[in-house]
Amino acid sequence: MIVTLLGVRGSIATPLRSQEYQGKVRQILEKAIRENINESRIDSFISELPPDLRYVIGGETTCCTVQIPGVPLPVIIDCGTALRHLGDELMAGPCGKGQGELHILVTHTHWDHIQGLPFFKPAYIPGNKLHFYSPLDDLQDRLVYQTTDRFFPMPFMATASEKHFHKLTGPIDLGGVQVDHHPLKHPGGCFAYKFSKDGHAFIFATDAEFTGTDLEHPEEYKPFFYQADLVVMDAQYTLDESFAKFDWGHTSYTMAVNCAAQWKVKNLVLTHHEPAYSDAKVFENYESAIEHRNIMRLEFPRVHLAREGLSFRIGPE
Ligand SMILES: [Zn+2]
Ligand SMILES: [Zn+2]
Repeated sequence: MIVTLLGVRGSIATPLRSQEYQGKVRQILEKAIRENINESRIDSFISELPPDLRYVIGGETTCCTVQIPGVPLPVIIDCGTALRHLGDELMAGPCGKGQGELHILVTHTHWDHIQGLPFFKPAYIPGNKLHFYSPLDDLQDRLVYQTTDRFFPMPFMATASEKHFHKLTGPIDLGGVQVDHHPLKHPGGCFAYKFSKDGHAFIFATDAEFTGTDLEHPEEYKPFFYQADLVVMDAQYTLDESFAKFDWGHTSYTMAVNCAAQWKVKNLVLTHHEPAYSDAKVFENYESAIEHRNIMRLEFPRVHLAREGLSFRIGPE
């Protein structure tokens, strides 16, 4: 399985603003002047930049793909604004000819997880089949509601593709991979998805508010998350902010590390970044998350920072 993160921003799309862009350019230029680089060193200079200058976190909201060898097109988790770019890319393949069959898992229907769908070109092509999966009874109604004429010019069910809605009541099989779900604490409810094959597991778990109570009562989540190879987890806040925003449905990076450590997760990816945080702040939180794990004298989880385009391979293929 190959997991690719396409949208990693929480709550609302957050394009890089000129002020932040120019701040990055200024720091890069200052560094280049200090190091007196010439043209032949540009590539190595860029590769040695600190992460917040070398990369952008990205401002698109939640969307993730899982490439499974037994499934021709990537399985999609959530339809945040990043889904639009994925749709444009998919149009180069079978989806552009009306021969695409796509499997789309929806964690919940807050705006930042469904807003890309009206702009998803494969939905407009006759012949394409879109399969939506969720434990919700009324997923179709919710997706239809977002494109009623008060909110959007094109009703979702009037787009030309075939749509099939599958209510999840237990594990399903996608190309030989078992896909299971588990409820998460979040206003209005949300679900984590777990992809397992041959003893390897990937779990996608945002939006979720994990707290100290979950560490005191591990029976709720530990069996589902135990020893997963990779968990992409909500880590929207700093610890202080998570106390100020108790019950808002998101987790601090500190608590994400604590939970992943207790559940013996091998790799933890921090995602659903707070839209008010600059890239520099998100990278600072990431460094603090690693430091927090080191203070606990733990080797695992390995901690990673979600940014657009980042991929992970799980298992042998
Ligand atoms: Zn969200
Ligand atoms: Zn949400």
